[in-house]
Amino acid sequence: MNQSLRSIIENSRRLVFFGGAGVSTESGIPDFRSETGLYHTMQMYGHSPEEIISHSFFLKSPETFYDFYKKNMIYLDAKPNPAHSTLAVWEKLGFLSAVITQNIDGLHQDAGSKKVYELHGSVRRNYCMDCHAFYTLAYIMDEANCIGGVPICNQCGGIVKPDVVLYEEALDGSVINGAMKAIEEADVMIVGGTSLVVYPAAGLAHGFRGRKLILINKGATALDGRADLTIGKPIGEVLGELADLVPLYGIIGEEKK
Ligand code: ZN
Repeated sequence: MNQSLRSIIENSRRLVFFGGAGVSTESGIPDFRSETGLYHTMQMYGHSPEEIISHSFFLKSPETFYDFYKKNMIYLDAKPNPAHSTLAVWEKLGFLSAVITQNIDGLHQDAGSKKVYELHGSVRRNYCMDCHAFYTLAYIMDEANCIGGVPICNQCGGIVKPDVVLYEEALDGSVINGAMKAIEEADVMIVGGTSLVVYPAAGLAHGFRGRKLILINKGATALDGRADLTIGKPIGEVLGELADLVPLYGIIGEEKK
């Protein structure tokens, strides 16, 4: 059924994967922008998720920020699903050059992926706003390290902030450049689990100039008109069926002509 998808990927020499929230939903991490999430948030906090997860809100009300953040954006028990593991295998086989993700959960690394551009940062990294000391996710989740739910630096007493790109904050330039280069050099790009409506990250996907563009998403995306193949199924299910795939062409870095 996915024969043409299989053949496009088998023939890829330099594949790049661009993923969004839908990649993690099959690991039990809901999209916090979903309708039910939004309704729930408005009821509980009187603010939309976008307001709470913003730079100015973090500075003004770190207690409320962390209450929402820890309850809605942290999933300590989440495990990689077949989408994550298949992508990690493809990288090992040498034809997937990079994973670019809008997710902040670190599941690609858990699955074994090495080259991951995290456009929106990662919940796994946290820094003191004053002395920049590094803290793990476990540290900030431990109430013993917090005052009113806000993690405090044990070196200087400053507030610890997640290395997650909040609303009103700019994306990391070196991450953007790396992702842009991976997209520009790719012959095949798979966009999965995103409707490509979140800018500026989504704008990156428009830089693709390769041979084949594949979209795997349960709903319509902003690039549907340009796609060579669109598949309206869950990404984990689709990629899981391709875990046994053997690439026909060379290893990245050893390519000829
Ligand atoms: Zn500090």
